[in-house]
Amino acid sequence: MNIVKFFNRLTLPVKLAVFPSFCQICGQPLLESEERVVCRQCLGKIDSHQGPVCQVCGRFLYHLSRLDSLCLDCQENLPPYELHRSLGSYSGRLKEAIILFKYKGKEPLAFSLAGHLYRQFEPLGLLQGVDLIVPVPLHWQKERKRGFNQAELLARWLSRFTGCPLGLGILIKTRNTASQVSLEAGERELNLKGAFAVRKKELIHERIIMLVDDVYTTGTTIKECALILKEAGAREIRAITLARA
Ligand SMILES: [Zn+2]
Ligand SMILES: [Zn+2]
Repeated sequence: MNIVKFFNRLTLPVKLAVFPSFCQICGQPLLESEERVVCRQCLGKIDSHQGPVCQVCGRFLYHLSRLDSLCLDCQENLPPYELHRSLGSYSGRLKEAIILFKYKGKEPLAFSLAGHLYRQFEPLGLLQGVDLIVPVPLHWQKERKRGFNQAELLARWLSRFTGCPLGLGILIKTRNTASQVSLEAGERELNLKGAFAVRKKELIHERIIMLVDDVYTTGTTIKECALILKEAGAREIRAITLARA
């Protein structure tokens, strides 16, 4: 009998005694020691985007076949960063996993999600030559309320996987801004203007920085962070996020 069938025959108290935790997406028990919050099967079904993307901002391009294409926005106006890529679009299981991770406080998911980022982007060379991995910061009040900074947890694991140093306390958020989600595209830029600052500038001088965040929507946050890091002397800014909304 396979283990899942066996499990389904057990009564709930027995289940809880034998298997202390369950996948938060499909409800099956987490059987393997490295599984956290979401089971391996559900994680395996998280779709990463396949196919052409804008070579700068990483926008998914569905109607273009040229591999060196730029989207219309980047053709018109290049962003202040060199490159950004997301794992997939903010939908389906990826969205479910991000909500569990970010809003429901399922911190152990950081390991699995960062693992996805690493497996997707390491073979493409995105992490090669990076001097410092820097998470997009939260304002300290927001971080205290949430209990953690989701971008920092991802960055920590990426730093472990790659052996590249983690840069904490370099990029900080000096103003507690309104949530970007609630704002129109035009208001987002204004909302974040001057909301970040760079400390320990000597650590980023002429360095290649990898910014890490959870979701890329209009890109305003990544652009503002890239701008200020460049002004402070960084040579190149790359960014990776879990999902593109
Ligand atoms: Zn599952
Ligand atoms: Zn683009």
